[in-house]
Amino acid sequence: AEFRLSDFEQLRVLGHGNGGTVYEVRHRRTAALYALKIVRTDAADASLRRQVYREVDILRRAAGSDHVVRFHAALPTPSGDVALLLENMNGGSLDALLRRRGRRPIPELALAAVARQALLGLAEIHSRQIVHRDIKPANLLINAAGEVKLADFGVGKVLRRSLDPCDSYVGTCAYMSPERFDPVTYGGDYDPYAADVWSLGLAMLELHRGHFPLLPEGSRPDWMALMVAICFGEAAGAVLEGTASGEFRGFIECCLQKESGKRWSVAELLSHPFVAGADRPESERALRDFLTDNSD
Ligand code: ATP
Ligand code: MG
Repeated sequence: AEFRLSDFEQLRVLGHGNGGTVYEVRHRRTAALYALKIVRTDAADASLRRQVYREVDILRRAAGSDHVVRFHAALPTPSGDVALLLENMNGGSLDALLRRRGRRPIPELALAAVARQALLGLAEIHSRQIVHRDIKPANLLINAAGEVKLADFGVGKVLRRSLDPCDSYVGTCAYMSPERFDPVTYGGDYDPYAADVWSLGLAMLELHRGHFPLLPEGSRPDWMALMVAICFGEAAGAVLEGTASGEFRGFIECCLQKESGKRWSVAELLSHPFVAGADRPESERALRDFLTDNSD
């Protein structure tokens, strides 16, 4: 279908990001709900425009992926910005979900469903030579059906050659893998896809603990403290001693290997006991229950 901005009415703000604001909108004729992400593209700033076209290019390439937020159209706005019409993920981001629940940890059984679906999303984009580079709870979206999808390809990249080092500093540095700080020690050009696995592992650890796991709660992250925690901090699994099952701890350890070459691949992680061993309908039910539970 052809879409125009005037076909939609604005309902509410769904979220804010660096790039702009995301609104929930309703298509007037069909009453269908969508998310509309307005990306500011200052006419004077060519790099901002390049970035939004890159995001559109990636979303088009990922079309048809079950675990990537669906993209419908890129529409020009009267003010010269670009509006991306996206599938409405009405459960919001997993980051917002954590905050809504007062940072109550998400139970392991529900996290198995999150991990499985996020890994399927990564498998889908990686098979199309796309790296996300900004995996974090704020960019994992959920809907009322409990489906988890990857969103925000604002800093994603299509690898044109098989061994593109992908060395630029993009994405949120809190979730950046050790090899992106120090490629020589941690094997940066070994596997550009492994950086997404690190970020997913860290996101999963955050969802399990309720807060960002590498720094003291409430501290302001600065680049140096993060770099030290990421590259020189104790082994990731150690923080889980006594609070998690062996399967979950093992899974996190496989994702958070500092040397990228030792990290498990997405395909391997999909058959890890934490993911493959969980009863699928049961873990998906646990996730939907967490989503709808208002008991606190
Ligand atoms: P960032 O600061 O991560 O670079 P951004 O400006 O690139 O952000 P997004 O991450 O795409 O923007 O969106 C910002 C927030 O808006 C998300 O964290 C989420 O809460 C909400 N959001 C984005 N897309 C959707 C969607 N399709 N459905 C529902 N909510 C969404
Ligand atoms: Mg984002």
